[in-house]
Amino acid sequence: MITMLKLMADRKRAEKERNARTYPRIQNPGAVASLTVLPLVDFYTSRPEARTEAGVSYLVTAGDFKVLVDVGYNVKGEHPSPLIRNMELFGVKLSEINALFISHLHLDHLGGGSDQRKKTFSLSKGAVDFPAIPVYSPLPIKHSPFNMNPGSEVRVSRDPVRIAPGVYGIGSIPRALYIMGSTEEQALAVHVAGKGIVLIIGCGHQTVQRVIDRARELFDLPIYGIIGGLHFPVHGGRIMIGPLNIQAIVGSDRMPWNGINENDVREAINAISAAGAKLVSLSAHDSSDWAINEFRNAFGAAYTDLLVGVPITI
Ligand SMILES: [Zn+2]
Ligand SMILES: [Zn+2]
Repeated sequence: MITMLKLMADRKRAEKERNARTYPRIQNPGAVASLTVLPLVDFYTSRPEARTEAGVSYLVTAGDFKVLVDVGYNVKGEHPSPLIRNMELFGVKLSEINALFISHLHLDHLGGGSDQRKKTFSLSKGAVDFPAIPVYSPLPIKHSPFNMNPGSEVRVSRDPVRIAPGVYGIGSIPRALYIMGSTEEQALAVHVAGKGIVLIIGCGHQTVQRVIDRARELFDLPIYGIIGGLHFPVHGGRIMIGPLNIQAIVGSDRMPWNGINENDVREAINAISAAGAKLVSLSAHDSSDWAINEFRNAFGAAYTDLLVGVPITI
């Protein structure tokens, strides 16, 4: 009963906050000629030598600007972490990254549960040389002591922010979640010349509908692509405790017996279709095989599997 009342109060607060955040159109957003999204951490891969886990880290190369989106889960607290191992495997160097973009402050995006508790982020559970680059986070956050980080500064990007020409944080969108509480999440937007806006999303707690609405508010440009997590653990999930589908319980703004369902997946597919997206790729880290199949069937040739080590090039 108390959790139900808390959720209802959180929902009200989140809605009020969402309605209060309106932004002017971005004039002259700039554009990049090419975009590549290389998943470094996610749930599936076609490369048996790569590490996988139910977390997210994507290397986004927009023109010649490189943004790392999230830093994985590192569920076993390893050093080197799955992220660092996969970076070595795919020849990605930390020193070549120009910015870090943290979608939201959940353990599978920050490098572990202790990072979520302490409001830090870590690339591994041993020393790594973190470059002198800005970190964009929807809420205040600190480097963990494992990140050797001279000169790296955290910028709270609750509001839309220009990261590089054609590369933007679209601003945070709040949502109340059962147990996890109020969650602030931001998505990355890249304007690819002649194509439109590609949205790169972490867990998708905001709902893809609201991400698309925000992108439309900010840009007078077509929505070209949706890549990343949308949180559809329907008929299965990636974090199971016995029969309990943890992601379905904690990732919804409804009570567990009324949680994320087939209808939510259909509504998301309809919203993405209505936006006219030409490229769709759904992360398996927080969506079930059932949901991925629905997306694949709905979008046909526009659907691309999201696999660790396999670049999505636009
Ligand atoms: Zn996630
Ligand atoms: Zn999350």
